[in-house]
Amino acid sequence: MLRARVAELERERDEALEHGQAQRIQFEGELESLRQATHPCRAMSTDEQLDALKAVFEAITDGVVVYDRAGAIISANSAFHQMMGITSPADYISLSMYERFSRIHVRDGEGRDLTEDALPVARLARGEVIASGDPVDLTFQTLDGREIFTDVSGAPLLDMSGTIAGMVVVFHDITARKHLERQTNEVLQTLKEEQVRSQANESALLETNRRMDEFLSIASHELRTPLTTINGNIQLAKRRVDTLLAPTRELAAYQDKLRLIRELLNRAERQVRIQNRLVGDLLDVSRIQGNRLQLDMDDTNLVEIVRNAVEDQRSASPGRVILLQDDSEGRALPVHADADRIGQVITNFLTNALKYSASDRVVEVRIEVVESSVKVSVRDEGPGLPPEEQKMLWDRFYRVPGIVVQSGSGVGLGLGLHICQTIITRHGGEVGVDSEVGKGSVFWFKLPLVSNFVTT
Ligand code: ADP
Repeated sequence: MLRARVAELERERDEALEHGQAQRIQFEGELESLRQATHPCRAMSTDEQLDALKAVFEAITDGVVVYDRAGAIISANSAFHQMMGITSPADYISLSMYERFSRIHVRDGEGRDLTEDALPVARLARGEVIASGDPVDLTFQTLDGREIFTDVSGAPLLDMSGTIAGMVVVFHDITARKHLERQTNEVLQTLKEEQVRSQANESALLETNRRMDEFLSIASHELRTPLTTINGNIQLAKRRVDTLLAPTRELAAYQDKLRLIRELLNRAERQVRIQNRLVGDLLDVSRIQGNRLQLDMDDTNLVEIVRNAVEDQRSASPGRVILLQDDSEGRALPVHADADRIGQVITNFLTNALKYSASDRVVEVRIEVVESSVKVSVRDEGPGLPPEEQKMLWDRFYRVPGIVVQSGSGVGLGLGLHICQTIITRHGGEVGVDSEVGKGSVFWFKLPLVSNFVTT
């Protein structure tokens, strides 16, 4: 569609250029007859020559001016007067070249001011010929204030002895063509910009599709893995139960079997927890997309929410050191928030910190009051993240290339941080990450303290 419009405009511009060329060829013929009419070998008096010139001049639609050797105008046709906005030709003709030049402002094709020396008439006076096939592109500020674009050509007029007796200059008005060219170029430019924009949209769409494909493959894999384990454990547990149902067994053997069954059920429970979190993330993201994420807001103590989340992770990962640095000094830090959702954010930061760092590395949670907000940060000694990735990782489905799970089994779908950012933003807070490759990361959020909280 865009390409067709670009081609159409380019064709229109070429036609306009061809039309200008045809006019120039027609004029070249007229100029040649003019040269012949004024050629010294035709035995005419100067008056006769001027009369002949005038007759031809008036028939020409281009501006034609005949100069004497010194650059004074001998004759100019009415097309020239009209073109330059000259209302009293007699006065204008009587002006010297310098006076004329100071009244009509002339610029070259690139818009630079022309020196008097570079004027076509001055060049012709030095014996140069400006062929109509290779005219000079000049812009004039006319006497009535218009701006006109012209192709200027001309030739010196030779007397019987072959010396320069004067000059003839032809001004071909190409203003309409230039305007058309300019408009066409403007439209072309706009269309090209649109083309670039639509190409950018297209690649953004491709990138979204790529992420969606990647997401679907991870999601289906991650959702199936726990199910396989759960199924295996259930099968095993059933077999154990079957053996227990056999009447010949003694009590000690029964207890061993029961302990094994309990372990199998524990494993199944852990897998269900993982499954539950993945499905929960999917549900949250669909709620966010559909603007249906509900918050149950109340005044609540953020210190307690953080402590609970830390305790939960300590018991879920007993082998890990999770430090808590609480700068609240035993005071409550009240925020107006949905306690469960804020707990979810801390848990997500914590589980990421645990799974993306080695199992012998410490994770540290900190609560501090910063001006009128309370800041919660989770620091890890994991791989750290380059600045460009720090911006991207809040996007839906985004997973930083090269970052691998180092401990635990919590593979993710690239949704957690997007959900965290949405939750905190909906609370009027702020999320961020401070990180450096090789030095670990600090994921943090800030929430406004309730207004009557006094820091003493
Ligand atoms: P996921 O469920 O895949 O962990 P998140 O949205 O929680 O999704 O995180 C997005 C991505 O950001 C992760 O896939 C990981 O590449 C990167 N990431 C998150 N937390 C950390 C961290 N603490 N250290 C290094 N990379 C991290």
